[in-house]
Amino acid sequence: MQIKIHRGVNQIGGCITEIKSKKARILIDIGTNLPTCESKVKVNVYKISKKCDAVFISHYHLDHIGEYMKVKKDVPIYIGEQAKEVFTIYQRKMKEPNIAEVTQEHLDRLKTFQTFKQDVPIVIKDLKLTPIRIDHSAFDSYMFLIENEDKRILHTGDFRTHGHISKDISQIFKDIKNIDVIICEHTTLSRLDETFVSELMLQKEAVNLIKNNKYVFIMCASTNIDRIASFYHANKEVGNKLFICDDYQKEILNYITETSKKYEDYYDFSEVQSFDRRLYKEMVDNGFCMLVRSNYFSKKFINSPNFKDNLFIYSQWLGYLKGSSADKNISEFVPKEYYYLHTSGHATAQGIIEVCNIIKPKIIIPIHGENSKDFDKLELPYQVKHLKNKKKFKVKIKKEMKEK
Ligand SMILES: [Zn+2]
Ligand SMILES: [Zn+2]
Repeated sequence: MQIKIHRGVNQIGGCITEIKSKKARILIDIGTNLPTCESKVKVNVYKISKKCDAVFISHYHLDHIGEYMKVKKDVPIYIGEQAKEVFTIYQRKMKEPNIAEVTQEHLDRLKTFQTFKQDVPIVIKDLKLTPIRIDHSAFDSYMFLIENEDKRILHTGDFRTHGHISKDISQIFKDIKNIDVIICEHTTLSRLDETFVSELMLQKEAVNLIKNNKYVFIMCASTNIDRIASFYHANKEVGNKLFICDDYQKEILNYITETSKKYEDYYDFSEVQSFDRRLYKEMVDNGFCMLVRSNYFSKKFINSPNFKDNLFIYSQWLGYLKGSSADKNISEFVPKEYYYLHTSGHATAQGIIEVCNIIKPKIIIPIHGENSKDFDKLELPYQVKHLKNKKKFKVKIKKEMKEK
């Protein structure tokens, strides 16, 4: 098999990986560069997709799916079933005037996406691809195990091991042994000095905050379902407050609730309520938790004299608030005084080591990180191959290793 990272080495996001066997050729992710990314790597997605049998999307973050309109029309695009629906609701919201440049054409294309199911392999000629559900800040995210008769490649997408559904990591990887190559994300390795709490610890801290503050506003990504679950369950534990959001968020949570029952009741958001005037008195009297985003609707509540002495919890990346990657919409919306409660959607160094030690890859190809050399700091007993963007790598491990 051959691996070609079109984009995604020494940069976070913009991921596009090609895997080619004797008979098949597929793409894993077709991401756009993050707005703050300085990468100059240009990829002609139409041209490379033309030669491919299929495109597989690990999850709906734009740095993995953003170029989907550029994929040649008759090439099938696959994504997780729930991920497809959540992303569709999100794109529909982005179609509203003055939000983003999403058109009906985008929605029509999205409709044609095919879906895969957890652990159910898809065969593309001589390749077999198995989606493995993993934990990330996007719901219904996957790693991909790609095999042919003698080689096994694991593409990690974005993942972490400190979330709710990744508690038992050895169980997730129990059938994924004898991996020849892992193409592994390493977003956090350039920030080894940061500390990362688990999603569960975050939830425990949220319990205290909700207990001690009558009116609580929470800002997190509308599609970070596990984070919303952390606050929702924290609020349930406290026990007496409404959990409020807007209609758009409620549509996403309704869908998750309906389709996740078979997995676990963790994703049962049936007590979340979208705002209704009739709730106002109860909100004033008993307090509430409210999911907010940078818009006029949310601002009205935050500035209301009725909800003075509120707590504003900021639960996403601090980089949006200040520095070179600041987002004006967000930084102008968040009040001067806020409480920061967040944890990364990406694996810590410890998490990456844990996964590598379970699957014992012969070769590691780092992607989705600022500097692939950061991987060497982990001193893992597996060979790290620092591939360059657009360079082919022939998986020829048994006898010799060649780079073309
Ligand atoms: Zn990413
Ligand atoms: Zn992601």
